[in-house]
Amino acid sequence: QEFADNHFIRTIIEKDLANGKHAAVHTRFPPEPNGYLHVGHAKSICLNFGLAYIYKGLCNLRFDDTNPEKENQEYVDSIKEDVCWLGFDWNGEPRYASDYFQQLYDYAVGLIQDGKAYVDDLTAEQIREYRGTLTEAGKNSPYRERSVAENLDLFQRMKNGEFADGSKTLRLKIDMASGNVNLRDPVIYRIRRAHHHNTGDQWCIYPMYDYTHAISDAIEGITHSLCTLEFEAHRPLYDWVLDNIPAPHPTRPRQYEFSRLELLYTITSKRKLNQLVSEGHVRGWDDPRMPTISGMRRRGYTPAGVRLFAKRAGISKSENIVDMSVLEGAVREDLENTAPRMMAVLNPLKVTLTNFDREKTQSRSAPYHPNHPDMGEREIPVSETIYIERDDFSEQPPQGWQRLSVGGEVRLRYGYVIKCDEAVKDGNGEVVELKCSIDHDTLGKKPEGRKVKGVIHWLSAAHAVPVQVRLYDRLFAVERPDAVRGEDGQYRPFTDFLNPDSAREITAWAEPVANGLAAESRWQFERLGYFVTDRYDHAAGSPVFNRTVGLKDTWQK
Ligand code: ATP
Ligand code: MG
Ligand code: MG
Repeated sequence: QEFADNHFIRTIIEKDLANGKHAAVHTRFPPEPNGYLHVGHAKSICLNFGLAYIYKGLCNLRFDDTNPEKENQEYVDSIKEDVCWLGFDWNGEPRYASDYFQQLYDYAVGLIQDGKAYVDDLTAEQIREYRGTLTEAGKNSPYRERSVAENLDLFQRMKNGEFADGSKTLRLKIDMASGNVNLRDPVIYRIRRAHHHNTGDQWCIYPMYDYTHAISDAIEGITHSLCTLEFEAHRPLYDWVLDNIPAPHPTRPRQYEFSRLELLYTITSKRKLNQLVSEGHVRGWDDPRMPTISGMRRRGYTPAGVRLFAKRAGISKSENIVDMSVLEGAVREDLENTAPRMMAVLNPLKVTLTNFDREKTQSRSAPYHPNHPDMGEREIPVSETIYIERDDFSEQPPQGWQRLSVGGEVRLRYGYVIKCDEAVKDGNGEVVELKCSIDHDTLGKKPEGRKVKGVIHWLSAAHAVPVQVRLYDRLFAVERPDAVRGEDGQYRPFTDFLNPDSAREITAWAEPVANGLAAESRWQFERLGYFVTDRYDHAAGSPVFNRTVGLKDTWQK
Protein backbone atom coordinates (compact mmCIF):
# COMPACT_ATOMS: atom_id res chain seq x y z
CA GLN A 1 0.00 0.00 0.00
CA GLU A 2 2.86 2.38 0.80
CA PHE A 3 4.18 1.78 -2.72
CA ALA A 4 0.85 1.57 -4.47
CA ASP A 5 1.09 4.83 -6.37
CA ASN A 6 1.03 4.70 -10.13
CA HIS A 7 3.89 5.84 -12.30
CA PHE A 8 5.25 5.20 -15.76
CA ILE A 9 7.63 2.45 -14.66
CA ARG A 10 4.74 0.48 -13.23
CA THR A 11 2.91 0.85 -16.51
CA ILE A 12 5.92 -0.59 -18.36
CA ILE A 13 6.27 -3.47 -15.91
CA GLU A 14 2.60 -4.35 -16.08
CA LYS A 15 2.80 -4.47 -19.85
CA ASP A 16 5.93 -6.65 -19.74
CA LEU A 17 4.26 -9.07 -17.35
CA ALA A 18 0.96 -9.12 -19.27
CA ASN A 19 2.53 -9.88 -22.64
CA GLY A 20 4.92 -12.47 -21.21
CA LYS A 21 8.13 -10.58 -21.94
CA HIS A 22 9.12 -11.30 -18.34
CA ALA A 23 7.69 -13.89 -15.99
CA ALA A 24 8.69 -11.89 -12.90
CA VAL A 25 10.18 -8.54 -11.98
CA HIS A 26 13.80 -8.41 -10.91
CA THR A 27 15.27 -5.03 -9.96
CA ARG A 28 18.45 -3.98 -8.20
CA PHE A 29 19.69 -1.08 -6.10
CA PRO A 30 23.29 -0.41 -7.13
CA PRO A 31 25.08 2.07 -4.83
CA GLU A 32 28.73 2.85 -5.17
CA PRO A 33 30.26 2.36 -1.69
CA ASN A 34 31.98 5.76 -1.75
CA GLY A 35 29.92 7.42 0.97
CA TYR A 36 26.81 7.06 3.09
CA LEU A 37 23.40 6.86 1.45
CA HIS A 38 21.25 10.00 1.41
CA VAL A 39 17.60 10.86 0.96
CA GLY A 40 17.92 10.63 -2.84
CA HIS A 41 19.07 7.05 -2.47
CA ALA A 42 16.10 6.43 -0.18
CA LYS A 43 13.87 7.30 -3.10
CA SER A 44 15.69 4.83 -5.35
CA ILE A 45 15.63 2.13 -2.64
CA CYS A 46 11.87 2.56 -2.15
CA LEU A 47 11.37 2.41 -5.91
CA ASN A 48 13.45 -0.70 -6.57
CA PHE A 49 12.58 -2.71 -3.47
CA GLY A 50 9.02 -1.40 -3.59
CA LEU A 51 8.50 -2.72 -7.14
CA ALA A 52 9.84 -6.13 -6.15
CA TYR A 53 7.42 -6.07 -3.21
CA ILE A 54 4.36 -5.05 -5.23
CA TYR A 55 4.96 -7.57 -8.02
CA LYS A 56 6.28 -10.33 -5.76
CA GLY A 57 9.60 -10.24 -7.55
CA LEU A 58 13.18 -9.81 -6.37
CA CYS A 59 15.49 -6.89 -5.76
CA ASN A 60 19.25 -7.27 -5.42
CA LEU A 61 21.53 -5.05 -3.43
CA ARG A 62 24.60 -4.63 -5.61
CA PHE A 63 27.68 -2.67 -4.74
CA ASP A 64 28.92 -0.92 -7.84
CA ASP A 65 32.52 -1.06 -6.71
CA THR A 66 34.77 -0.26 -9.64
CA ASN A 67 36.57 2.81 -8.20
CA PRO A 68 38.80 1.29 -5.50
CA GLU A 69 40.39 4.56 -4.36
CA LYS A 70 37.12 6.02 -3.17
CA GLU A 71 35.45 2.94 -1.77
CA ASN A 72 35.77 1.18 1.54
CA GLN A 73 34.25 -1.36 3.90
CA GLU A 74 32.82 1.28 6.27
CA TYR A 75 30.63 2.51 3.41
CA VAL A 76 29.61 -1.02 2.46
CA ASP A 77 28.54 -1.72 6.05
CA SER A 78 26.64 1.54 6.42
CA ILE A 79 24.75 0.94 3.16
CA LYS A 80 23.62 -2.51 4.28
CA GLU A 81 22.52 -1.13 7.62
CA ASP A 82 20.59 1.74 6.02
CA VAL A 83 18.73 -0.46 3.53
CA CYS A 84 17.69 -2.79 6.39
CA TRP A 85 16.64 0.12 8.54
CA LEU A 86 14.36 1.39 5.77
CA GLY A 87 12.65 -1.98 6.04
CA PHE A 88 13.95 -3.84 3.00
CA ASP A 89 15.41 -7.23 2.49
CA TRP A 90 17.65 -7.98 -0.43
CA ASN A 91 17.60 -11.19 -2.33
CA GLY A 92 20.14 -13.50 -0.64
CA GLU A 93 23.66 -12.15 -0.19
CA PRO A 94 24.57 -8.66 -1.36
CA ARG A 95 26.17 -8.69 -4.81
CA TYR A 96 29.38 -6.92 -5.75
CA ALA A 97 30.27 -5.83 -9.25
CA SER A 98 33.79 -6.84 -8.23
CA ASP A 99 32.59 -10.45 -7.98
CA TYR A 100 32.29 -10.30 -11.77
CA PHE A 101 35.77 -8.96 -12.51
CA GLN A 102 36.93 -12.24 -14.05
CA GLN A 103 33.84 -12.58 -16.21
CA LEU A 104 34.03 -8.93 -17.24
CA TYR A 105 37.64 -9.53 -18.22
CA ASP A 106 36.75 -12.64 -20.22
CA TYR A 107 34.03 -10.75 -22.08
CA ALA A 108 36.51 -7.99 -22.85
CA VAL A 109 38.88 -10.57 -24.33
CA GLY A 110 35.95 -11.82 -26.44
CA LEU A 111 35.23 -8.31 -27.67
CA ILE A 112 38.88 -7.95 -28.70
CA GLN A 113 38.71 -11.27 -30.54
CA ASP A 114 35.62 -10.03 -32.37
CA GLY A 115 37.48 -6.87 -33.40
CA LYS A 116 35.20 -4.76 -31.20
CA ALA A 117 37.73 -3.48 -28.67
CA TYR A 118 41.30 -2.19 -28.81
CA VAL A 119 44.10 -1.12 -26.54
CA ASP A 120 44.79 2.59 -26.77
CA ASP A 121 47.96 4.44 -25.75
CA LEU A 122 46.45 7.92 -25.79
CA THR A 123 46.53 9.73 -22.45
CA ALA A 124 43.28 10.63 -20.70
CA GLU A 125 43.70 14.20 -21.88
CA GLN A 126 44.30 13.16 -25.48
CA ILE A 127 41.28 10.91 -25.38
CA ARG A 128 39.22 13.90 -24.30
CA GLU A 129 40.63 16.01 -27.15
CA TYR A 130 39.99 13.31 -29.74
CA ARG A 131 36.46 12.78 -28.53
CA GLY A 132 35.16 15.94 -30.24
CA THR A 133 32.13 17.88 -29.06
CA LEU A 134 28.37 17.77 -29.41
CA THR A 135 28.60 19.57 -32.74
CA GLU A 136 31.91 18.20 -33.99
CA ALA A 137 32.71 14.55 -34.71
CA GLY A 138 35.60 12.91 -32.90
CA LYS A 139 38.84 11.63 -34.45
CA ASN A 140 40.02 8.06 -34.54
CA SER A 141 42.89 7.21 -32.25
CA PRO A 142 46.10 6.27 -34.11
CA TYR A 143 46.02 2.98 -32.16
CA ARG A 144 42.50 2.06 -33.30
CA GLU A 145 43.63 -0.30 -36.07
CA ARG A 146 45.91 -2.51 -33.98
CA SER A 147 45.56 -6.18 -34.88
CA VAL A 148 43.51 -8.56 -32.79
CA ALA A 149 46.67 -10.44 -31.84
CA GLU A 150 48.44 -7.28 -30.69
CA ASN A 151 45.37 -6.15 -28.70
CA LEU A 152 45.08 -9.54 -27.01
CA ASP A 153 48.73 -9.45 -26.05
CA LEU A 154 48.62 -5.86 -24.78
CA PHE A 155 45.42 -6.35 -22.78
CA GLN A 156 46.82 -9.41 -21.07
CA ARG A 157 49.99 -7.48 -20.24
CA MET A 158 47.87 -4.61 -18.88
CA LYS A 159 46.27 -7.16 -16.57
CA ASN A 160 49.67 -8.59 -15.63
CA GLY A 161 50.88 -5.22 -14.44
CA GLU A 162 53.46 -4.56 -17.16
CA PHE A 163 52.35 -0.97 -17.83
CA ALA A 164 52.19 2.13 -15.69
CA ASP A 165 48.90 3.46 -14.32
CA GLY A 166 47.09 5.53 -16.93
CA SER A 167 49.45 4.58 -19.76
CA LYS A 168 46.94 2.40 -21.64
CA THR A 169 43.21 1.81 -21.78
CA LEU A 170 40.91 -0.69 -23.42
CA ARG A 171 38.26 0.98 -25.59
CA LEU A 172 35.24 -0.26 -27.45
CA LYS A 173 35.44 0.23 -31.20
CA ILE A 174 32.07 1.78 -31.94
CA ASP A 175 31.93 5.08 -33.84
CA MET A 176 33.98 8.24 -33.31
CA ALA A 177 31.47 10.18 -35.41
CA SER A 178 28.40 9.08 -33.46
CA GLY A 179 25.97 11.82 -32.52
CA ASN A 180 26.07 10.34 -29.02
CA VAL A 181 29.47 11.06 -27.46
CA ASN A 182 29.04 8.06 -25.16
CA LEU A 183 29.40 5.85 -28.24
CA ARG A 184 32.67 7.45 -29.38
CA ASP A 185 34.85 4.49 -28.46
CA PRO A 186 34.20 4.56 -24.70
CA VAL A 187 36.99 3.43 -22.41
CA ILE A 188 36.01 0.21 -20.65
CA TYR A 189 39.24 -0.57 -18.74
CA ARG A 190 41.89 1.53 -17.10
CA ILE A 191 45.07 0.70 -15.21
CA ARG A 192 45.01 1.63 -11.50
CA ARG A 193 47.22 0.17 -8.87
CA ALA A 194 44.85 0.61 -5.96
CA HIS A 195 43.86 -1.69 -3.15
CA HIS A 196 40.26 -2.85 -3.56
CA HIS A 197 38.05 -3.40 -0.51
CA ASN A 198 36.82 -6.71 -1.95
CA THR A 199 39.46 -8.03 -4.35
CA GLY A 200 42.52 -6.66 -2.55
CA ASP A 201 45.52 -6.39 -4.90
CA GLN A 202 44.39 -9.08 -7.29
CA TRP A 203 43.65 -6.62 -10.11
CA CYS A 204 45.48 -3.59 -11.41
CA ILE A 205 43.00 -2.97 -14.21
CA TYR A 206 39.46 -1.95 -13.39
CA PRO A 207 36.39 -1.92 -15.64
CA MET A 208 34.38 1.28 -16.14
CA TYR A 209 30.86 1.92 -14.92
CA ASP A 210 28.77 1.59 -18.11
CA TYR A 211 30.38 -1.64 -19.24
CA THR A 212 30.24 -3.15 -15.75
CA HIS A 213 26.71 -2.10 -15.04
CA ALA A 214 25.13 -3.58 -18.15
CA ILE A 215 26.91 -6.90 -17.73
CA SER A 216 26.22 -7.11 -13.99
CA ASP A 217 22.52 -6.57 -14.71
CA ALA A 218 22.54 -9.36 -17.30
CA ILE A 219 24.44 -11.79 -15.05
CA GLU A 220 21.99 -11.24 -12.21
CA GLY A 221 18.90 -11.62 -14.37
CA ILE A 222 17.71 -8.06 -13.84
CA THR A 223 14.62 -7.23 -15.89
CA HIS A 224 14.20 -3.51 -15.26
CA SER A 225 17.35 -1.51 -14.57
CA LEU A 226 16.24 1.80 -13.11
CA CYS A 227 18.54 4.77 -12.91
CA THR A 228 18.43 8.54 -12.84
CA LEU A 229 18.04 10.72 -15.92
CA GLU A 230 21.71 11.65 -16.31
CA PHE A 231 22.15 8.14 -17.68
CA GLU A 232 19.62 8.53 -20.47
CA ALA A 233 22.33 9.21 -23.03
CA HIS A 234 24.26 6.18 -21.76
CA ARG A 235 21.40 3.83 -22.63
CA PRO A 236 22.60 3.19 -26.22
CA LEU A 237 25.96 2.11 -24.77
CA TYR A 238 24.22 -0.11 -22.21
CA ASP A 239 22.34 -1.75 -25.07
CA TRP A 240 25.45 -1.96 -27.27
CA VAL A 241 27.31 -3.86 -24.54
CA LEU A 242 24.45 -6.32 -24.06
CA ASP A 243 24.10 -6.81 -27.81
CA ASN A 244 27.79 -7.63 -28.18
CA ILE A 245 28.58 -9.98 -25.33
CA PRO A 246 27.93 -13.70 -25.66
CA ALA A 247 24.40 -14.94 -24.96
CA PRO A 248 22.67 -16.41 -23.13
CA HIS A 249 21.92 -14.58 -19.93
CA PRO A 250 18.86 -15.14 -17.82
CA THR A 251 17.30 -11.92 -19.12
CA ARG A 252 17.84 -9.07 -21.52
CA PRO A 253 17.68 -6.16 -19.05
CA ARG A 254 16.34 -2.79 -20.13
CA GLN A 255 17.34 0.52 -18.64
CA TYR A 256 14.70 3.08 -17.68
CA GLU A 257 15.40 6.52 -16.30
CA PHE A 258 13.55 8.65 -13.76
CA SER A 259 14.36 12.08 -12.40
CA ARG A 260 16.69 12.57 -9.50
CA LEU A 261 15.28 13.85 -6.25
CA GLU A 262 16.49 17.27 -5.29
CA LEU A 263 15.57 18.34 -1.78
CA LEU A 264 15.53 22.05 -1.01
CA TYR A 265 17.52 23.40 1.97
CA THR A 266 19.98 20.57 1.73
CA ILE A 267 22.42 18.82 -0.57
CA THR A 268 22.09 15.45 -2.23
CA SER A 269 25.52 14.59 -3.48
CA LYS A 270 27.82 12.18 -1.71
CA ARG A 271 30.85 14.20 -2.71
CA LYS A 272 29.52 17.37 -1.10
CA LEU A 273 28.25 15.53 1.97
CA ASN A 274 31.72 14.05 2.29
CA GLN A 275 33.11 17.60 2.25
CA LEU A 276 30.79 18.61 5.12
CA VAL A 277 32.16 15.71 7.13
CA SER A 278 35.82 16.07 6.26
CA GLU A 279 35.85 19.84 6.81
CA GLY A 280 34.16 19.40 10.18
CA HIS A 281 30.97 21.36 9.46
CA VAL A 282 29.02 18.46 10.94
CA ARG A 283 29.96 15.79 13.45
CA GLY A 284 29.92 12.91 10.99
CA TRP A 285 27.94 11.27 8.22
CA ASP A 286 25.20 10.47 10.73
CA ASP A 287 25.00 13.92 12.27
CA PRO A 288 21.26 14.48 12.85
CA ARG A 289 21.35 17.49 10.48
CA MET A 290 22.64 15.44 7.56
CA PRO A 291 20.24 14.30 4.81
CA THR A 292 21.87 10.89 4.98
CA ILE A 293 19.71 7.92 5.92
CA SER A 294 21.80 7.41 9.05
CA GLY A 295 21.50 11.14 9.88
CA MET A 296 17.75 11.05 9.43
CA ARG A 297 17.64 7.98 11.64
CA ARG A 298 19.63 9.69 14.35
CA ARG A 299 17.40 12.75 14.03
CA GLY A 300 14.44 10.54 14.90
CA TYR A 301 12.88 10.15 11.46
CA THR A 302 11.07 6.84 11.08
CA PRO A 303 11.49 4.32 8.25
CA ALA A 304 7.76 4.61 7.54
CA GLY A 305 8.02 8.41 7.46
CA VAL A 306 10.90 8.30 4.97
CA ARG A 307 9.03 5.77 2.82
CA LEU A 308 5.93 7.95 2.87
CA PHE A 309 8.09 10.85 1.75
CA ALA A 310 9.54 8.81 -1.12
CA LYS A 311 6.06 7.97 -2.28
CA ARG A 312 5.02 11.63 -2.15
CA ALA A 313 8.13 12.76 -4.03
CA GLY A 314 6.91 10.46 -6.80
CA ILE A 315 8.51 8.84 -9.84
CA SER A 316 8.54 10.66 -13.16
CA LYS A 317 10.82 12.11 -15.78
CA SER A 318 10.09 15.74 -14.91
CA GLU A 319 12.08 17.81 -12.43
CA ASN A 320 11.77 16.48 -8.91
CA ILE A 321 12.55 19.43 -6.66
CA VAL A 322 10.87 18.94 -3.33
CA ASP A 323 10.71 21.24 -0.35
CA MET A 324 12.10 20.07 2.98
CA SER A 325 8.66 20.66 4.49
CA VAL A 326 7.36 17.66 2.50
CA LEU A 327 9.91 15.39 4.19
CA GLU A 328 9.26 16.92 7.61
CA GLY A 329 5.51 16.64 7.05
CA ALA A 330 5.69 12.94 6.20
CA VAL A 331 7.79 12.23 9.29
CA ARG A 332 5.47 14.28 11.48
CA GLU A 333 2.48 12.41 10.14
CA ASP A 334 3.96 9.05 11.04
CA LEU A 335 5.12 10.20 14.49
CA GLU A 336 1.74 11.76 15.29
CA ASN A 337 0.29 8.30 15.29
CA THR A 338 3.16 6.29 16.74
CA ALA A 339 5.00 8.44 19.32
CA PRO A 340 3.83 8.45 22.96
CA ARG A 341 3.53 11.82 24.68
CA MET A 342 5.21 13.31 27.68
CA MET A 343 5.64 16.82 29.01
CA ALA A 344 9.00 18.56 28.99
CA VAL A 345 9.95 22.14 29.77
CA LEU A 346 12.81 23.51 27.71
CA ASN A 347 13.11 26.99 29.20
CA PRO A 348 11.72 26.80 32.72
CA LEU A 349 10.05 29.52 34.77
CA LYS A 350 9.47 28.61 38.41
CA VAL A 351 5.89 28.79 39.66
CA THR A 352 4.93 28.53 43.33
CA LEU A 353 1.42 27.20 43.95
CA THR A 354 0.63 29.25 47.05
CA ASN A 355 -2.36 27.22 48.14
CA PHE A 356 -0.86 23.83 47.42
CA ASP A 357 -2.15 21.42 50.05
CA ARG A 358 -0.68 17.98 50.54
CA GLU A 359 -4.10 16.58 51.45
CA LYS A 360 -6.27 18.41 48.98
CA THR A 361 -4.15 18.87 45.86
CA GLN A 362 -4.40 15.76 43.76
CA SER A 363 -2.67 14.30 40.77
CA ARG A 364 -4.30 12.66 37.78
CA SER A 365 -3.20 9.98 35.42
CA ALA A 366 -2.92 10.66 31.73
CA PRO A 367 -2.71 8.45 28.65
CA TYR A 368 0.61 8.23 26.79
CA HIS A 369 -1.26 8.69 23.53
CA PRO A 370 -4.71 10.23 23.02
CA ASN A 371 -5.78 7.57 20.48
CA HIS A 372 -3.87 4.54 21.71
CA PRO A 373 -5.05 3.36 25.12
CA ASP A 374 -2.80 0.33 24.57
CA MET A 375 0.21 2.60 25.13
CA GLY A 376 -0.86 2.90 28.77
CA GLU A 377 -1.04 5.74 31.29
CA ARG A 378 1.09 7.35 33.94
CA GLU A 379 0.48 9.56 36.95
CA ILE A 380 1.24 13.29 36.51
CA PRO A 381 2.61 14.25 39.93
CA VAL A 382 2.11 17.74 41.39
CA SER A 383 3.97 19.58 44.13
CA GLU A 384 4.24 23.11 45.51
CA THR A 385 6.80 24.22 42.94
CA ILE A 386 6.25 23.59 39.27
CA TYR A 387 8.00 24.62 36.05
CA ILE A 388 6.25 26.14 33.10
CA GLU A 389 7.71 27.32 29.80
CA ARG A 390 8.97 30.90 30.07
CA ASP A 391 7.20 31.69 26.78
CA ASP A 392 3.88 30.75 28.32
CA PHE A 393 3.94 33.83 30.56
CA SER A 394 3.69 37.41 29.35
CA GLU A 395 4.03 40.56 31.42
CA GLN A 396 2.30 42.60 28.73
CA PRO A 397 0.05 40.10 27.07
CA PRO A 398 -0.94 40.93 23.50
CA GLN A 399 -4.59 40.93 22.43
CA GLY A 400 -6.04 37.44 22.48
CA TRP A 401 -3.30 35.98 24.73
CA GLN A 402 -4.54 32.67 26.11
CA ARG A 403 -1.58 31.71 28.20
CA LEU A 404 -0.52 33.10 31.57
CA SER A 405 -0.33 36.77 32.63
CA VAL A 406 -0.70 38.50 35.98
CA GLY A 407 -4.36 38.24 36.96
CA GLY A 408 -4.99 35.65 34.21
CA GLU A 409 -5.94 32.00 34.38
CA VAL A 410 -4.73 28.96 32.52
CA ARG A 411 -5.19 25.22 32.80
CA LEU A 412 -2.24 23.01 33.58
CA ARG A 413 -2.42 20.10 31.16
CA TYR A 414 -4.02 17.10 32.95
CA GLY A 415 -4.28 19.29 36.07
CA TYR A 416 -5.95 22.27 37.70
CA VAL A 417 -6.80 25.74 36.52
CA ILE A 418 -4.39 28.19 38.15
CA LYS A 419 -4.45 31.96 38.43
CA CYS A 420 -1.32 34.10 38.43
CA ASP A 421 -1.42 36.48 41.39
CA GLU A 422 2.07 37.93 41.24
CA ALA A 423 5.23 37.99 39.14
CA VAL A 424 8.40 38.13 41.24
CA LYS A 425 11.34 39.97 39.64
CA ASP A 426 15.06 40.00 40.32
CA GLY A 427 17.24 43.12 40.57
CA ASN A 428 17.40 43.43 36.77
CA GLY A 429 13.64 43.47 36.43
CA GLU A 430 13.56 39.98 35.03
CA VAL A 431 10.67 37.74 36.08
CA VAL A 432 12.15 34.86 38.07
CA GLU A 433 9.07 33.34 39.69
CA LEU A 434 5.29 33.41 39.53
CA LYS A 435 3.01 33.06 42.49
CA CYS A 436 -0.18 31.30 41.47
CA SER A 437 -3.23 29.91 43.21
CA ILE A 438 -4.98 26.68 42.38
CA ASP A 439 -8.73 26.50 41.79
CA HIS A 440 -9.20 23.17 43.53
CA ASP A 441 -12.60 22.70 41.96
CA THR A 442 -11.27 22.27 38.42
CA LEU A 443 -9.50 18.90 38.32
CA GLY A 444 -11.03 17.09 35.37
CA LYS A 445 -13.92 19.56 35.21
CA LYS A 446 -14.76 22.96 33.81
CA PRO A 447 -14.38 25.97 36.07
CA GLU A 448 -17.61 27.53 37.43
CA GLY A 449 -18.98 30.60 35.67
CA ARG A 450 -16.08 31.40 33.31
CA LYS A 451 -14.16 30.05 30.36
CA VAL A 452 -10.45 29.22 30.58
CA LYS A 453 -9.19 28.59 27.07
CA GLY A 454 -5.45 28.24 27.49
CA VAL A 455 -3.81 24.92 28.38
CA ILE A 456 -0.09 24.81 29.07
CA HIS A 457 2.39 22.02 29.74
CA TRP A 458 4.24 21.94 33.05
CA LEU A 459 6.22 19.73 35.41
CA SER A 460 6.38 19.21 39.13
CA ALA A 461 9.84 20.47 40.11
CA ALA A 462 10.17 17.80 42.78
CA HIS A 463 9.65 15.02 40.24
CA ALA A 464 11.09 16.38 36.99
CA VAL A 465 14.36 14.94 35.74
CA PRO A 466 17.06 16.88 33.92
CA VAL A 467 17.58 15.98 30.26
CA GLN A 468 20.04 17.15 27.63
CA VAL A 469 18.18 18.36 24.57
CA ARG A 470 19.78 19.02 21.19
CA LEU A 471 17.73 21.47 19.23
CA TYR A 472 18.41 20.84 15.58
CA ASP A 473 17.27 22.98 12.74
CA ARG A 474 17.93 22.95 9.02
CA LEU A 475 21.59 22.70 8.10
CA PHE A 476 21.36 25.30 5.34
CA ALA A 477 19.70 28.69 5.40
CA VAL A 478 18.90 28.89 1.68
CA GLU A 479 16.89 26.70 -0.67
CA ARG A 480 19.69 25.69 -3.02
CA PRO A 481 23.01 26.07 -1.25
CA ASP A 482 24.97 24.60 -4.16
CA ALA A 483 23.36 26.84 -6.81
CA VAL A 484 24.05 30.36 -5.56
CA ARG A 485 26.17 32.49 -7.88
CA GLY A 486 28.29 35.42 -6.74
CA GLU A 487 28.63 38.77 -8.54
CA ASP A 488 31.35 37.27 -10.73
CA GLY A 489 28.86 34.68 -12.00
CA GLN A 490 30.73 31.82 -10.31
CA TYR A 491 29.08 29.40 -7.91
CA ARG A 492 29.76 30.33 -4.34
CA PRO A 493 30.92 27.57 -1.99
CA PHE A 494 27.84 25.86 -0.59
CA THR A 495 29.46 25.97 2.83
CA ASP A 496 28.87 29.75 2.81
CA PHE A 497 25.19 29.05 3.35
CA LEU A 498 25.29 26.84 6.42
CA ASN A 499 22.63 27.86 8.94
CA PRO A 500 24.61 29.16 11.95
CA ASP A 501 21.76 28.14 14.29
CA SER A 502 21.38 24.56 13.14
CA ALA A 503 22.41 22.97 16.45
CA ARG A 504 22.07 24.08 20.06
CA GLU A 505 22.26 21.99 23.21
CA ILE A 506 20.38 22.86 26.39
CA THR A 507 19.58 21.28 29.72
CA ALA A 508 15.83 20.93 30.12
CA TRP A 509 13.35 19.11 32.35
CA ALA A 510 11.09 16.19 31.58
CA GLU A 511 8.76 13.70 33.21
CA PRO A 512 10.40 10.89 35.22
CA VAL A 513 9.71 8.41 32.43
CA ALA A 514 12.54 10.09 30.47
CA ASN A 515 15.05 8.50 32.82
CA GLY A 516 14.32 4.90 31.91
CA LEU A 517 14.26 4.94 28.13
CA ALA A 518 16.22 2.92 25.62
CA ALA A 519 18.18 4.69 22.89
CA GLU A 520 16.13 5.63 19.82
CA SER A 521 12.85 6.04 21.72
CA ARG A 522 10.65 8.53 19.91
CA TRP A 523 8.38 10.83 21.90
CA GLN A 524 6.25 13.86 21.48
CA PHE A 525 7.02 16.56 24.03
CA GLU A 526 3.55 18.04 24.28
CA ARG A 527 3.18 21.38 22.48
CA LEU A 528 6.89 21.36 21.54
CA GLY A 529 7.51 18.73 18.91
CA TYR A 530 8.92 15.25 18.38
CA PHE A 531 12.13 14.17 20.06
CA VAL A 532 14.20 11.00 20.04
CA THR A 533 16.71 9.65 22.53
CA ASP A 534 20.08 9.80 20.83
CA ARG A 535 21.20 6.56 19.25
CA TYR A 536 24.68 6.79 20.78
CA ASP A 537 24.90 9.45 23.49
CA HIS A 538 21.74 8.65 25.42
CA ALA A 539 21.81 6.32 28.42
CA ALA A 540 19.21 5.40 30.98
CA GLY A 541 19.78 7.79 33.89
CA SER A 542 21.38 10.48 31.70
CA PRO A 543 18.91 11.13 28.92
CA VAL A 544 19.88 12.90 25.71
CA PHE A 545 17.15 13.89 23.28
CA ASN A 546 17.39 15.17 19.71
CA ARG A 547 14.63 17.36 18.33
CA THR A 548 13.30 15.54 15.29
CA VAL A 549 10.77 18.06 14.03
CA GLY A 550 8.38 20.63 15.47
CA LEU A 551 4.62 20.09 15.62
CA LYS A 552 4.02 22.57 12.82
CA ASP A 553 6.02 23.88 9.91
CA THR A 554 7.50 27.04 11.38
CA TRP A 555 10.43 27.60 9.01
CA GLN A 556 10.62 31.27 8.00
CA LYS A 557 11.76 31.80 4.43
P1 ATP B 1 25.92 10.84 -5.68
O1 ATP B 1 26.06 11.87 -6.74
O2 ATP B 1 25.27 11.36 -4.45
O3 ATP B 1 27.18 10.10 -5.42
P2 ATP B 1 25.16 8.61 -7.29
O4 ATP B 1 24.03 8.52 -8.24
O5 ATP B 1 26.53 8.70 -7.85
O6 ATP B 1 24.86 9.78 -6.28
P3 ATP B 1 25.12 5.87 -6.49
O7 ATP B 1 25.74 5.26 -5.30
O8 ATP B 1 25.67 5.52 -7.80
O9 ATP B 1 25.14 7.43 -6.24
O10 ATP B 1 23.55 5.65 -6.48
C1 ATP B 1 22.89 4.42 -6.33
C2 ATP B 1 21.52 4.55 -6.92
O11 ATP B 1 20.80 5.60 -6.28
C3 ATP B 1 21.58 4.90 -8.40
O12 ATP B 1 20.73 4.03 -9.11
C4 ATP B 1 21.13 6.31 -8.47
O13 ATP B 1 20.46 6.55 -9.65
C5 ATP B 1 20.23 6.45 -7.24
N1 ATP B 1 20.25 7.84 -6.76
C6 ATP B 1 21.32 8.54 -6.33
N2 ATP B 1 20.98 9.81 -6.02
C7 ATP B 1 19.66 9.91 -6.27
C8 ATP B 1 18.71 10.97 -6.15
N3 ATP B 1 19.07 12.19 -5.73
N4 ATP B 1 17.43 10.71 -6.49
C9 ATP B 1 17.06 9.49 -6.91
N5 ATP B 1 17.90 8.45 -7.05
C10 ATP B 1 19.19 8.65 -6.73
MG1 MG C 1 26.71 6.36 -9.44
MG1 MG D 1 28.36 9.79 -7.44
